[in-house]
Parts: sequence; C-alpha cells; structure tokens
Amino acid sequence: MSRTALVTGGTRGIGSAISIALKEAGYTVCASYAGNDEAAATFKELTGIRVHKFDVSDFNDCHTAILEIEGEIGPIDILVNNAGITRDTMLHKMTLEQWNEVISTNLTSLFNTTKNVIDGMRERNFGRIINISSINGQKGQMGQTNYSAAKAGVIGFTKALAQEGARKGITVNCVAPGYVATEMVKAIPDDVLATQILPYIPVGRLGEPAEIARCVTFLASEEAGFITGSTITVNGGQYITS
Ligand code: NDP
Repeated sequence: MSRTALVTGGTRGIGSAISIALKEAGYTVCASYAGNDEAAATFKELTGIRVHKFDVSDFNDCHTAILEIEGEIGPIDILVNNAGITRDTMLHKMTLEQWNEVISTNLTSLFNTTKNVIDGMRERNFGRIINISSINGQKGQMGQTNYSAAKAGVIGFTKALAQEGARKGITVNCVAPGYVATEMVKAIPDDVLATQILPYIPVGRLGEPAEIARCVTFLASEEAGFITGSTITVNGGQYITS
C-alpha cells in the first residue's frame, strides 16, 4: 500500500501543485480546502485527487476531518501544512481580528493538524511533516506583522518538533518560498510588484508553484530521512539580496 499524504490548502495555488506532484510520485493524496467549493470541484475533476473541506484554524474541525480522511485513505504518513492567508496592513491600522485570523490560520493550524497525526506517526516510526513558511517570515515584511510573525513561528515550531520526532523516524522541515505566481501574489498591486519586488529577485521572475512542489516532494521521500529541522529557501535568490 502506498504512503498517504494530506496537503492543507491543497486545491489551489502552491498547494495544488504539491498535491499533484505527490500524486505523481505515487502517494495517495487528500487535498484540503476552506470554502472555495468551485475551485475544489474543478481541481478534483482535473486531477482525480480526493478533496476534503475543513478549517485549519479550528481544532475540532481538524480532529473530525482527519479521522474521516484516515478512515478513507489510511493513516497519514505525510502532512504538508500549506494553507495560509494574508490580511496585509500596517500595524497601526491592523485590527485584532486581522491579527488573529492570520495567526490562527497560518500558525495555530500547525498545532491543530499535527496534533491529530503525530501519535500515529510515532507509533509507526515514520512521518514527514513539511511546513510552508515564507521569505517574509525570515526577513520580516512591512505591512505584514501578522503574517511575518506567523511564518517565523512556523520555523520555530519546525525546529522544536524536529527534535521531538527525530528518534521516531519523523522528519519536520520548512520550505520558505519567495514570491510565487498564485492568487495570493496577484493581490499585490502591479506597481508594488514591479518596483518593490521583482527588482530584488535575482533570477528576475516570480516562482512557479511546481518549483515549490518539487522541493516538498523531495522532503517527503524516504531518501530525505537525514534532513530534519531545516528551512529550505526557494526564492530565486531573493533572500541573499534582502
Ligand atoms: P492561495 O491563496 O492560492 O491558496 C490558499 C489555500 O489555502 C486554498 O486552498 C484555501 O482554501 C486554503 N485555506 C485558506 N484558509 C484556510 C483555512 N482556514 N482552512 C483550510 N484551508 C484554508 O495561497 P498560495 O498558494 O499562494 O499559498 C500557499 C502557502 O504558501 C501559504 O501558506 C502562503 O502563506 C505560502 N506562501 C505563498 C507565497 C506566494 O508567493 N504565493 C510566498 C511564500 C509563502 P480555499 O480554496 O477554500 O480558499
């Protein structure tokens, strides 16, 4: 029986590329999403990948959903914590709601999902947990105190859990993408992209979701068992210029 993978936010953007790449690598994949039923239905029709709607920011929803998913495809071997949102604004304009939404969706979600698979991984002496951080969690980004804090927290979570899982065959790593051509980046105004982002990407273009997916697929593989607690930057060289 093939290994199983759950990709949160796996029906759109980077997550959909990850779901597809894992399926192509031979895993049995479930892609989760929050509420965009139309995108999820199209994704399912085009890829044949199973989809499941639940809110990663809600612990009980994660608990129920993961039990259902494991009932369908078996225990989760590979968890990709990819779901994320932005609510960008300067701190002096940020509401508590905007802060909380981003922290709970982008950071508390890692507790909510991982807590529901970690016991099984420990019992089976195998697990791959791959968390999607961001260059903006590494360097900080104006207008994103909430997002930068959450994504930096993802790196800390990864390093701590990597130590807890190391003797149990569980690796825990981060991938920190730079700017990737998805809906999230399309929300950035064109002039900001042209003047404040593209000039600082040495390769001179946005990344493609498939380029993030290839990195995740490698970390998910049996061959990557000696890599844990790492943050792999996939950003066209941007971090070195920031
Ligand atoms: P998209 O906005 O394209 O897709 C986000 C996905 O997450 C969707 O499937 C969405 O579901 C799901 N999602 C959002 N909120 C929740 C929730 N509460 N519960 C469950 N699922 C949820 O995002 P990207 O593909 O651009 O980003 C993916 C990840 O990569 C994020 O963590 C992001 O922070 C990170 N990242 C992205 C970069 C970029 O340049 N795009 C750069 C660096 C990091 P639904 O379809 O139902 O809305």
